[in-house]
Amino acid sequence: MDHFLYKDGVLHAEDVSIPEIAAAVGTPFYVYSTATLTRHFALFQEALDGLPHLVCFAIKSNSNLAVLKTLGDLGAGMDVVSGGEYLRAKAAGVPGERIVFSGVGKTREEIHLALTGGIRQFNVESEPEMRVISAVASELGLEAPIALRVNPDVDAKTHEKIATGKSENKFGIPIAKARAAYAEAASLPGIKVVGVDVHIGSQLTDLEPFGAAFLKVRELTQQLRADGHNIIRLDLGGGLGIPYTRSNEAPPLPLDYGAVIKRTVGDLGCEIEIEPGRLISGNAGILVTSVIYLKEGEGRDFLIVDAAMNDLVRPSMYGAHHDIVPVVEPAPGTEARPYDVVGPVCETGDTFAKGRMITPLGADDLVAFRSAGAYGAVMASEYNSRPLIPEVMVNGDQFAVIRRRPSFEEMLARDTIPEWL
Ligand SMILES: *Cc1c(COP(=O)(O)O)cnc(C)c1O
Repeated sequence: MDHFLYKDGVLHAEDVSIPEIAAAVGTPFYVYSTATLTRHFALFQEALDGLPHLVCFAIKSNSNLAVLKTLGDLGAGMDVVSGGEYLRAKAAGVPGERIVFSGVGKTREEIHLALTGGIRQFNVESEPEMRVISAVASELGLEAPIALRVNPDVDAKTHEKIATGKSENKFGIPIAKARAAYAEAASLPGIKVVGVDVHIGSQLTDLEPFGAAFLKVRELTQQLRADGHNIIRLDLGGGLGIPYTRSNEAPPLPLDYGAVIKRTVGDLGCEIEIEPGRLISGNAGILVTSVIYLKEGEGRDFLIVDAAMNDLVRPSMYGAHHDIVPVVEPAPGTEARPYDVVGPVCETGDTFAKGRMITPLGADDLVAFRSAGAYGAVMASEYNSRPLIPEVMVNGDQFAVIRRRPSFEEMLARDTIPEWL
């Protein structure tokens, strides 16, 4: 459920009408709903009720400071995968003890930044990384809390570009090598082993792979404890999928996901961390765009909109589906017709949908892409010298621009022409 509904025939974000925002900021733009973010976070809190836990929002899904502060103020932890994300978490007021640092390629600088600024734990993805963390922590006279990310070799049954838990993926330490890696960790100065970490992929629409992975983590935890390691936390990653279509998809509910966690690892006495991104932010945002032209082609009509693949890359990158809806609700009984919805970028890949059934639209009509709050704005680029589009946040009947559109002057000013030219 989200808070983007029609009221009196006009799409609203909570109590604010989309045309009102469009008039104020111009299209295209992203808009996020505070109530939806809050509700989704609460669902995870409820799902893990009864277990000591920390829900760490995966910043990579949506890193706007206003989004992070909304969640951080509710008590969320943060899962970061770069120094930049770490700084965003801190800037949003989240203390280091609620920040976990994931990612396969942490640099010395990033490790230094997190150790000096405060960190709950590093999720370590390789032995060489563990040695660098040990070296940096030792130089600083600090102790780095770590969990090793293990690769459980389970099939997440999701899109190949976002599956991470098979042995052929670049992520984590193969679970069969984990005991040896933990033994090394225990011997390194500046390292304090606190837990086990796993993350098998994104947009999972089946609970079974989670259950399989968590059981492997359970077994490993028992072995590691027998080996003398003090495993007090289990980080179970993110990845719970969301419905991208209103009609027929029903991915598992956080409550059922929580039940899988309780059933598989709930009795180990560990503090549970999870790292949901998409489920919290995905359906908390939409992308609003205007039709520039309706172009009648041979056998198909093109809706050319002012958003493009640089603003929302998921359709061209993953073949992802976003529901596309008119902002002004069509009169009941209006017949839909097929459109190819495309952006202005000079690439055939700049296609949001082919043959999509939508009620008739024309130039200047506003259109919304649903489920655009995760992996939307964060993956945007300025390809074709299109400035990054603004982000807006709604809370009840208020809205605020939470990232403004840069001017062309600002965009050009970042380039430097060498003096020999
Ligand atoms: C991407 C990622 C997440 C978040 O995944 P979602 O599918 O957005 O929930 C969590 N943890 C790690 C390590 C990730 O790489």
